[in-house]
Amino acid sequence: DDPYLQVRDLRVRFATEDGVVRAVDGVSFAVERGRTLGIVGESGSGKSVTSLAVLGLHDPKRTTITGQILVGGRDIAGRPDEEVRRLRGRDMAMIFQDPLSALHPYYSVGRQIAEAYRIHHPRAGRGEARKRTIEMLDRVGIPQPAKRADQYPHEFSGGMRQRAMIAMALVNDPDLLIADEPTTALDVTVQAQILDLLGDLQKEFNSAIILITHDLGVVSQVADEVLVMYGGRAVEHGGVEQVLRAPQHPYTWGLLASVPTVHGDAGADLVPIPGNPPSLINLPPGCAFHPRCRHASGDCFTQVPELRDVERLMVACHHPEASRAQ
Ligand code: SF4
Ligand code: MG
Repeated sequence: DDPYLQVRDLRVRFATEDGVVRAVDGVSFAVERGRTLGIVGESGSGKSVTSLAVLGLHDPKRTTITGQILVGGRDIAGRPDEEVRRLRGRDMAMIFQDPLSALHPYYSVGRQIAEAYRIHHPRAGRGEARKRTIEMLDRVGIPQPAKRADQYPHEFSGGMRQRAMIAMALVNDPDLLIADEPTTALDVTVQAQILDLLGDLQKEFNSAIILITHDLGVVSQVADEVLVMYGGRAVEHGGVEQVLRAPQHPYTWGLLASVPTVHGDAGADLVPIPGNPPSLINLPPGCAFHPRCRHASGDCFTQVPELRDVERLMVACHHPEASRAQ
């Protein structure tokens, strides 16, 4: 069986007044049903743009997409909007960081979930849609779901709103679920509960999941596989245990050292990565990470490192052994 989603050599460019933004520059990955891929990077790494392109949520007037996006074996890269829209919400759904931006303030939560259901089940009556809505609210752990269905988004706490968003995303039983920073706005306890919930639902719904985050700690809790992006490119890719235990790319080392939640020991020294993410209009030559890398030398300044096999990981670095020695 082929993976449900296969992305091959995806490139996404936007025209801006300042020049062409190369937001995603040749990224490939695959996600099977029942598996979770974590896409990790700082803001501006291309991780969100990648998922928006998969869902066809980019602005078609400004954006050029090349490469392949195979969903259930069908290439939807650059397909007409209506075709992708039909898949979206039914076969593919998304959970955002801020449910308030996705939920309409003037309609009850239950009505919005019921409508999401009826868009893709046009023959379902109101009664059936309401029944399904209440089932889903119950399934995501919202107490008194029938009563809660009639409430408005502002009457929900942040964690409950995120649960409602997840109910809405799953109401049509999608094959692919993309969650973009789904727990970033939540406190640590609620964050852990939502990640647990996502893990449970994945088993039950057997969806392919892409989890987008800047936080390797979040990835360690739910992902099977990790793709680390920097400057629109994949810099490290492999199984979650291997990436977290023995990353080969200096950027991944930097992310690990700067995230408190991976090892959970609050006393550990957190070391932020020096410097800032690069401009996607003018990437540094060679390895885009070189201005921030203390192992940079020789080829790093002139040759873009290709992804290659290193210690059971795919790594784009000229000197992975240098970072191992640190
Ligand atoms: Fe550092 Fe060079 Fe590796 Fe880039 S290629 S991460 S600059 S060692
Ligand atoms: Mg983002």
